[in-house]
Parts: sequence; structure tokens; C-alpha cells
Amino acid sequence: MTVASSSAAPAPSYDRADWASSFRNVGVELDGVPLTAARGTIPAELRGTLYRNGPGRLERGGQWVHHPFDGDGMITALRFEAGGAQLRNRFVRTEGWQAEEQAGKFVYRGVFGTQKPGGVAANAFDVRLKNIANTHVVRLGDQLLALWEAAEPHALDPDTLETRGISLLGGVLKPGEAFSAHPRFDPGHHGVPRMVTFGVKAGPRSSVRLMEFATEGPEAGTLLSDSSHTFPGFAFLHDFAITPNWAVFLQNAVSFNPLPFVLGQKGAAQCLRSKPGGQARFWLIPRDCGAHAGEAPRVIDAPDGFVFHHLNAWEEAEAVVVESVYYSDFPGIGPDQDFRAIDFDLLPEGLLEQCRIDLATGSVSTTRLSERCCEFGMVNPEREGLAARYAWMAVAECETGNDPLQAIKKLDLTTGERTVWSAAPRGFVSEPVMVPRPGAAEEDSGWVLCLVWNGARCASDLVILDAADLHEVAVLELPLAIPHGLHGSWVQA
Ligand code: FE
Repeated sequence: MTVASSSAAPAPSYDRADWASSFRNVGVELDGVPLTAARGTIPAELRGTLYRNGPGRLERGGQWVHHPFDGDGMITALRFEAGGAQLRNRFVRTEGWQAEEQAGKFVYRGVFGTQKPGGVAANAFDVRLKNIANTHVVRLGDQLLALWEAAEPHALDPDTLETRGISLLGGVLKPGEAFSAHPRFDPGHHGVPRMVTFGVKAGPRSSVRLMEFATEGPEAGTLLSDSSHTFPGFAFLHDFAITPNWAVFLQNAVSFNPLPFVLGQKGAAQCLRSKPGGQARFWLIPRDCGAHAGEAPRVIDAPDGFVFHHLNAWEEAEAVVVESVYYSDFPGIGPDQDFRAIDFDLLPEGLLEQCRIDLATGSVSTTRLSERCCEFGMVNPEREGLAARYAWMAVAECETGNDPLQAIKKLDLTTGERTVWSAAPRGFVSEPVMVPRPGAAEEDSGWVLCLVWNGARCASDLVILDAADLHEVAVLELPLAIPHGLHGSWVQA
């Protein structure tokens, strides 16, 4: 037995080479490859498809992207049926992907700092955006939508993953219109389930378009509600949260100076800065189907910090509660840094905070729910917008400080009790997707599905955990190497 001295730094839980080995190009597109479990058994009750999106192309002509978020969207689909599974993957055939495949080099600049070859002169004044469709993937009606927040979605065939093309959702969107990569799924607070989402037009004043779509029956994909709201200040809104009556946004205190982008020195997202002395704000927009329909949005001062993702939100008497992953500052990657060599210790860690917004007084009280670095949290989808007892999230292996995400945590939001499944030392997790067991009454009955980068195999595993106690139900060793990814969703068969 070894006892660590209290003054010694804890041994790292991972080898950087294992973490970085995930950054590579996806070289194959598979067509319904049957899979068997390397360990455990695929539950026969698990029937449906896990769709994942994330950057699949990180290098062209010997040049690497400046940030993995600039990589072209690649969709992975894992279909589960009768205790078996099938794997398919396809790049989204965006205009940019096609042009760059043909050219064998980057012909667009990336929002996160990837430059075209040829230096500043070749990049200055090229302010075109490359819609790379790499952030999230959701089913809406008969389409699978590959989402990227600054432009329209791409529609794909849900079975073959063939790209149908840019979708304006039956005329709902204008060409080029922003459409968030973070829709929220209302499980039926007003009778029928809905997809609630938004688009942002940011500037000195920023406007939010809130849209709600039917998700079931012959109406699926139909726009049910549409409203636009304008607020003072520049808005960087990546995600939001919903309750039965409110859409909850957090306007981070950031400023945007586009000059280095226009002059070809930086990517657009690298021009975002925390605004010293700035005031973050909650924007509460009444939903058209809710009790406050027609009222003006509420604008309420929010705590300092920077938020990409929310866990959930719900209502109490005279209050809205929202849970979010807070960073102490905007975690950017500067123009001279290599993303594969980032020092995790120098970046702020994500911490789960609960903000209780008192609607009568406009005051906000904050409670830290966990000290462990986390990202990509979710509750049981049936509890979206309601007080949930449990949350599942990706966490670092270390108890405090910043490190890569290597474990899945279940957090009891009532008692603080934690259960952890870890892929360390050689595994690195992505966003966990909680799939409820059909017909189950218990909130934590079901499975957690997670793609794990396996540094020992230099390939990806699909891990199925029991949602209640996080015991390993099955591990599928995929014949595919998927770089660290972004978001995904489950579509029940
Ligand atoms: Fe996100």
C-alpha cells in the first residue's frame, strides 16, 4: 500500500498522449456494421438509435485545425434492437466539406481560429462562415437535423445518414439564419411534446427568436409558436433552459471586437472576451403556451462567471430555478496555442451551480451543487423543465481542479449523494445520454449511453451503464475511432 504525502501533487489520472490520440481524421464511413458486446450484454429492452455529432475531420493537406470545434461534423448512429446493435457513420455533406474534400486543403476560415493557408493576407476580409454542422444532432419529423448554431440546420436521412441538404424547415428560416444547436424537448407540459429552440442575432442589441415545433404525429416538424425579443448588449447564447412557462437564457458578460477577425488575425470566436466589470443577465422569455404568454420578458442580474451549458430549470412559487455549469471566465484558446498541448491547470473548471431567481424581488441566490469539474449534464428527459431528483454528467477523475473528462457521475440533487463510473486511466468520456427504461416509474430507471475514447485501443467504445447505480451493463468496442465529440440524442424505436 502506498500513502501519498499531503504535500505531493496527486499523480495525474491519465497520460496526455492517450487523451490527444483521439484528435485524428475519421477515415471510414461504415454502413450498418453489426456489433457484439466485448463485455456484458446489450439489454433487449434498449430499442432505438443513439445519434452523436462531433468534429470528424481535423487536418487537411498537413494543416491542423486551430481548435477541434472547427472540425467538420461527422454523425455516428448506433441502432439497438433485440439485444443487438449496428453502427453507421457519415460526414455531413456541407458545402464547405465538399469544397475542401475536393481541394485537399482548408478553403474556409474556422470560427475557432483555423486559417486558410497563406497567412493573414489570405484570410483578411474573408468573413464567410463555414456551416460545419458539427455540434448536435436531433430528430424532427422525418428528418435528422445536424445543428451548428450560427446557421441553418442540415437535414439527413435518419436511416442512411445521407445528407439531404440545408433545411429551412419548410420556410420557417431565412437562408443563413442562425438556429441554435441546443434545442430543448418539452416532454408534454402543455399536452403534447414539443421541441423548443431559438436563434440569436447578436450585436450592440441582440435579438432572440424563440420557436416551438411539434415532435409527434402527422404534425411533427410543424412550427407551433414563434416570437422575437430584443435585448440591450451583445449576446453569446450557446444553450438555454425551459420550464413549462419560461424560456431561460443567460447572457454572459462578454464583449466582441470583430476587428482581428475581419483583418484575418483571429477566428470570430477568438474575438470574444469576458467584459471586465460587465453584468451577466438572465433573460426570462414567457412561452406562448404558458401562463405568462404575452407578458414582456423579465431581465434579471445574474452572478459572475461564464456558462455554455445548462442542466435543467424548473419553477417554484414566485421563482425560477436554473442549474448550469459555471466557469470563472471564458475559456478561450489563443491564436498562438496548440489545442493538443493545452495546460488543463491553466483553464477554469466547470462547476455545477444552482441559481434561484426570485421573480418578486429580482434577486438571485446561488448554491454550488458539486466541487468536481463537470460538463454535459442531463436529467431524465421526462423531467426536463421540472424539478428533477437526479442528474448524470461527465466529470474529471480528480475531485477538484481541471482535467479531461474521464468519468460519469450520477448526482442526487436532493441529498448530494454521488455515484461514479470511471474510464480512467486510459479512457475519456463524452456527453452521457440518459435513456429511460420504457414504462418505468422510477426517475433513475434506464441506461446511460456514452462514447468513450479508449486510449489503449486508439478507438472508441460505446459503454452502456445502468442509470441507477452506474454499473457496467455492456461495452461495445467499435471498429471506429471518433475524436472527442460534442452532443447527441436518443431516438426511441
Ligand atoms: Fe453545447
